[in-house]
Amino acid sequence: MSCDNCEVQYHDYYSENIYTWCTNCGNYGISAALKRALVATSIPPHKVLLAFDIGCNGNGADKIGGYRFHGLHGRVLPFAAGAALANHNLKVVASAGDGATLSEGINHLVHSVRNNYNITFILHNNGNYGLTTGQASQTTKKGEHMNTSPEGVITDSMNVARFVMELGGSFVARTFSGDVHQMSHIFEAAINHKGFAFVEVLQSCPTYNKATPHEWYMERIYDTITIPNYDNSNRDWAREIATDMENKIATGILYHDKSKLDYYSQLPQRQDIQTTLVDEVRKTDVKDLVASFR
Ligand code: SF4
Repeated sequence: MSCDNCEVQYHDYYSENIYTWCTNCGNYGISAALKRALVATSIPPHKVLLAFDIGCNGNGADKIGGYRFHGLHGRVLPFAAGAALANHNLKVVASAGDGATLSEGINHLVHSVRNNYNITFILHNNGNYGLTTGQASQTTKKGEHMNTSPEGVITDSMNVARFVMELGGSFVARTFSGDVHQMSHIFEAAINHKGFAFVEVLQSCPTYNKATPHEWYMERIYDTITIPNYDNSNRDWAREIATDMENKIATGILYHDKSKLDYYSQLPQRQDIQTTLVDEVRKTDVKDLVASFR
């Protein structure tokens, strides 16, 4: 295990637990990229909280070292936000799938973006509920045949990156589970961002999502660094390039507002206070309060 002043190594995040994802699942690349990003940002495992939602992403919760939390379906964001507010010295990285995040968890996504909580959020967008064997989610392509829609999905799929931009997100990125190099760099930038860093990973799910396999993405994705003079502080430009999810799919840091303050930094009652809420709770004597209920 690493110490405060030790150089952080990849094996610090090693877990002896055996992976259980399907062969060729995009989660392997995402997990490797997250470890690489944590090493690149020199964050030792005892200074980061890795929070996972229920879903195939959550099966990675015990495949990485460090402090981990595996929560309720769709509820990882309020937990992660609470942890980040309680201890601003802790880096918090939350992961969840498209099903949980965009159905029962969508209110949490909306308010996490609005409040600009200081957390990194990795959305594993595999376009279906993989853990429960392939039901349609909010990002399943229209017309795709899924277990709960054998005649084909009849509703339009959601463009999540655009949705987060419309909500006023301060950091909006998109990447692909087949590109560990790009994912690592984007996760690193997201972790270094002060505020809510939203990263959509277009994830292949070869077992249940037959419409968008690895090859389908490989033929369509491009990196925004190839756009001449692309300015990712220009929200209108970012919205424009984020729109196409069929033919030319933009990846990279699509939008970045470095000036927007995160939630905690704006709290008047926390100005000039160095301690964390966790420290202060530890110092609170509740004997009299408890006695008052006897
Ligand atoms: Fe990966 Fe899909 Fe298998 Fe889940 S069901 S482990 S997302 S390939």
